[in-house]
Amino acid sequence: MNLLIVEDEVRLADALGEIMREQKYMADIVYNGTDGLYYAKNNSYDVIILDVMLPGINGFDLVRELRACHIATPVILLTAKDDIRDKITGLDSGADDYMTKPFVPEELLARIRALTRRQGDVVLEEQRFLDLTLHLSTCDLSCGCKSIHLSYKEFEIMKLLIANQKIVLSKEALISRVWGNDSNAEDNNVEAYISFLRKKLVFLGSCVSINTVRKVGYRLEGPAS
Ligand code: CA
Repeated sequence: MNLLIVEDEVRLADALGEIMREQKYMADIVYNGTDGLYYAKNNSYDVIILDVMLPGINGFDLVRELRACHIATPVILLTAKDDIRDKITGLDSGADDYMTKPFVPEELLARIRALTRRQGDVVLEEQRFLDLTLHLSTCDLSCGCKSIHLSYKEFEIMKLLIANQKIVLSKEALISRVWGNDSNAEDNNVEAYISFLRKKLVFLGSCVSINTVRKVGYRLEGPAS
């Protein structure tokens, strides 16, 4: 296992490096976001452990930049505050998991194992519907030679729409599957993301549209015959 640790608290970064070495993992350690981005772009890692508040480039922007470059290495964000907005921003930026500081090393190690296991389990790499292809490892949606990156929630919604293309998905079903049953998300959150996705479909020039079935929900449709 080969890891990248990006953390500006030198003592924490070095302690994490020591923990990884005890597990016989290899770890590169850098202390600012600029070096982190350079290392992440120019090496192949199994997991990146990334602090949010960093000199140079912050963790959110670093993940966004990696995903924009189609680098799908799993990222665990280290957030200083137990702030739900930070977690949402992090996951929406393209991170895969987060840990709130301070944390116990065993939990971080378990999350690293879970992420690499999940990556190993991926069999299906893309989902298709008419002229659309959803790339599961990079969260990109493409049509012909055009491609666009989807945010975490856009990706989850599109995945459900393609997987359930014969049925109408209700807003309640989307909230429960994408936001979770205990979330405070409301219908207008779903409407906002559907509108983002519709703009991306127009950008791609796809023949597919997201049809609103009044008072029921949404369904993907091809060109009207
Ligand atoms: Ca920091």
